[in-house]
Amino acid sequence: KEALKLSKEELKDLKAEINKKAKENKELGGYVEQFLGKDLSDMGDGVPIAIKDNINVKGWEVTCSSKILQGYVSPYNATVIDKMLEAGLSPFGRCNMDEFAMGSSTETSYYGKTLNPHDANRVPGGSSGGSAAVVGAGLAVAALGSDTGGSIRQPAAFCGVVGMKPTYGRVSRLGLVAFSSSLDQIGPITQNVEDAAILYNILAGHDPKDSTSAPVENKKIEINENRKLKIAVIDNYIDEADEDIKNRLNDIIAELEKEGHTIIHKTLMNSKYDVATYYVVATAEASSNLARFDGMRYGNRIEGKDLKETYKLTRAQFGDEVKRRIMLGTFVLSSGYYDAYYLKAQKVRHLIKNEFDKLFAEADLVLTPVTPSTAFEFGSKKDPLEMYLSDIYTISVNLAGVPAISLPVGKDKNNMPIGLQLIAKHFDEQTLFDGAKIVE
Ligand code: GLN
Repeated sequence: KEALKLSKEELKDLKAEINKKAKENKELGGYVEQFLGKDLSDMGDGVPIAIKDNINVKGWEVTCSSKILQGYVSPYNATVIDKMLEAGLSPFGRCNMDEFAMGSSTETSYYGKTLNPHDANRVPGGSSGGSAAVVGAGLAVAALGSDTGGSIRQPAAFCGVVGMKPTYGRVSRLGLVAFSSSLDQIGPITQNVEDAAILYNILAGHDPKDSTSAPVENKKIEINENRKLKIAVIDNYIDEADEDIKNRLNDIIAELEKEGHTIIHKTLMNSKYDVATYYVVATAEASSNLARFDGMRYGNRIEGKDLKETYKLTRAQFGDEVKRRIMLGTFVLSSGYYDAYYLKAQKVRHLIKNEFDKLFAEADLVLTPVTPSTAFEFGSKKDPLEMYLSDIYTISVNLAGVPAISLPVGKDKNNMPIGLQLIAKHFDEQTLFDGAKIVE
């Protein structure tokens, strides 16, 4: 049922139910400590929406699940929070995440792990793992996440919920702690497509206070599921995915064809190039964005004997994955290496965008798996590169800037959710939601 359409009375019952569940399921770990055990009734009378720990809410701690930001209280609301308040929604609850949104399993959080609501031995995905887990466990009606390389869509797929990344520039980034500024977007994580569209309608729109927000027309989405669509399916992505994902997606594609949609078979550039490009662009931007956490302007300062030692001690609080990214990013931007890495990555990024443009000259939507496997077990991906490969089908979407949605479409042999990804052309969220409703 669409929770965002509930009446005040129905909402009261739902809140009571969520409260009870949240108290009984603290170990689910989707919420960070500052909010565990808090009562939903204290959070205003709107529909409660859980918020990832990298989006500023005035008066709340915003820590990006990092040690370095412990105790930092946000002085202002992100634009998305103001928009939600104006629409009568109530932000409540801080969701766990990978530290500074770097990761695919929420295992890099300073607060510790978040469990997958379908199997406590498996990860919820990441980096918006807490947001997806609380929605999947029924501990929140909906949540906000952020997606730089798949961080909304991959955890949504792992937790069996809907996760949507808008077109780059569609939703304001003001008040989202920047990871990779040319890739980051905030988006909804919900229990169904209709709720995702309702929340998206509230979040979207030009923000003059964000220079990367696009001054384009922003028509309200009204889902129309009576369309016949041209859908490009990416054969090489589907063939590479695990057997159960492949079979489920192929069944859905056959059904769509039967219903009168046109299926076109296509391939995309080998996803290893997307991964390589992403980890140059994202780390370069991250190393620059994270320079501000020096203990002077932001962060938990640790005093040393002089300024240099203070910087050193303060920044040593970053976790291993964040340090790895800062070092990699600093390296690819160093003089003498710029052309070989950063410039080359920008060129490949352009090729990736061109590939999507070509697909959308023929098709309304592109269909792929969200992930190569379903949720994996804790500790099973110790090699960082192996972890990076869990985003192979989501990161090209961020590099191209197009919108995409992850939909739960069934379970694998271990009873873990399977996700399907739809991608639309720039600013065509209308077709994205229409297609999503058709698949749902
Ligand atoms: N997993 C990817 C990374 O670690 C994507 C993260 C994200 O989208 N924030 O960078």
